[in-house]
Amino acid sequence: MRLILLGPPGVGKGTQAQRLQDHYAIVHLSTGELLRDEIADGTDLGLHAKSFIDQGLLVPDQILLDMMNGRLQHTDCEAGFLLDGFPRTIPQAEGLTGILATLDQALNAVVCLTADREELIHRLLLRGKTSGRTDDNLAVIRQRLDVYRQQTEPLIDYYRANGLLVEVSGLGTIPEITERIINALDIQCLE
Ligand code: AMP
Repeated sequence: MRLILLGPPGVGKGTQAQRLQDHYAIVHLSTGELLRDEIADGTDLGLHAKSFIDQGLLVPDQILLDMMNGRLQHTDCEAGFLLDGFPRTIPQAEGLTGILATLDQALNAVVCLTADREELIHRLLLRGKTSGRTDDNLAVIRQRLDVYRQQTEPLIDYYRANGLLVEVSGLGTIPEITERIINALDIQCLE
């Protein structure tokens, strides 16, 4: 199974990705986590990325594409993967299509989780109390939601046009949402 998990910050992508990784026995790749690891390791890439992350802006496309091009070639991705937080722009989506074509792979589905802005702000402020993330504060949260609307939301139509989009409500309990996703994927992958 090769999946993308799409949706605004705070919608629960990371939580659901953990559960879907176990269910489908596939690798969970979160670009936010990969970038935070680079920052923690003090690499040049991490230092560069941090200036964007702390402002709630997207890290430049080419950095993400180079990082994911390398990562998707690892043997642990052969059995399938779940991309969480990537792609986030149309150029990243087009780049991903190219990377997968060279690997002779194709996506099975793009799951888009949805929730309204007030709910997302509420959840992210709560998360900020314990996450230790420098970008979980109100000013940066608002910026990240605006960036999502302007740069990432166009991917919904992009993947709908490709027939890959599966939209699922991100409201409810964690197990309810997981079940909703798995049921929707069962239908999508039968078609
Ligand atoms: P996340 O953990 O997915 O919320 O990502 C945290 C931050 O990392 C984002 O606000 C961006 O600054 C950066 N980031 C993560 N993934 C991407 C991506 N695909 N493209 C650009 N920036 C990204």
